[in-house]
Amino acid sequence: MSAAADRPTALVTGANRGLGLETSNQLRAKGFRVILTSRDEKKGTASVRGLDPAGRDVAYHQLDITDAASISAVAHDLPGLASRLDLLVNNAGIGSWGADRRASVRTIATNYFGSRDVTDALLPFIPDGGRVVMVSSGLGELSYMGRDLRPRFADSSLTRPALDSLVNSYLTALEDGDVKSAGWPSAYSVSKVALNSLTRILARELAPRKISINSVCPGWVRTDMGGPGANRSVQVGARSIVLGATLSEDATGGFYRDGKRIDW
Ligand code: NDP
Repeated sequence: MSAAADRPTALVTGANRGLGLETSNQLRAKGFRVILTSRDEKKGTASVRGLDPAGRDVAYHQLDITDAASISAVAHDLPGLASRLDLLVNNAGIGSWGADRRASVRTIATNYFGSRDVTDALLPFIPDGGRVVMVSSGLGELSYMGRDLRPRFADSSLTRPALDSLVNSYLTALEDGDVKSAGWPSAYSVSKVALNSLTRILARELAPRKISINSVCPGWVRTDMGGPGANRSVQVGARSIVLGATLSEDATGGFYRDGKRIDW
């Protein structure tokens, strides 16, 4: 077996800039082969060249997490890129904190449905004992939800169809213009709370295969999304993601920052 085949492989979404790029950098330093993905091929290949000019440790594949054909293409091509996927980092995300309806719908489609669909498509390549990290946010804490909504997202017997229909009920409220009265927070918070719920559901489903899946908050980070006023460097934020990817094997279904479990 070649040295490359011996090394664990990680795939990172939205890795052409910000936390995804730095997470790829840190995973590579930890000995991972990294499949860096981005929705824009030009930006992604430029990032790969910057990270690994010799092309030894970082491979590239296009991936728009909201595009079913793009997700299928990665799943189709994956066996040619790696013999298995030891770690999937669902990092790609967008922010929408305001009242703009289209931006809100896009945020849910990307942060929740996109990460869900990528995970489903790539799970067949993750071996028993593999790992998945959902890059969530402190803004995905349950306390941002209205009182009546909280127990529904936190329900430990929540199923995937029930979670999807909860998220869809937010989209309906958005359409009807009554998100506030129903207790919904920003689209960004809804997307990340839902992602945390999905983490718990998947952790339950994947326990027999000992695949661990956790949500991670990188803190408030100086990226394009976090802005220049954020209190963390991209290195410190990405470290939180990498720590979430290297927790003890039995840690699953939790929410972590800097390797420590935090309240959800
Ligand atoms: P950036 O805005 O710097 O980067 C976001 C990345 O996601 C970009 O590479 C972007 O690609 C990519 N992306 C967006 N939509 C898609 C899509 N449909 N398919 C594939 N890639 C996509 O943000 P950060 O690096 O700060 O954020 C990374 C993650 O961390 C997000 O999930 C975010 O919610 C989370 N987070 C960030 C915090 C912060 O303070 N920065 C705090 C808490 C959580 P492109 O370049 O093409 O736009």
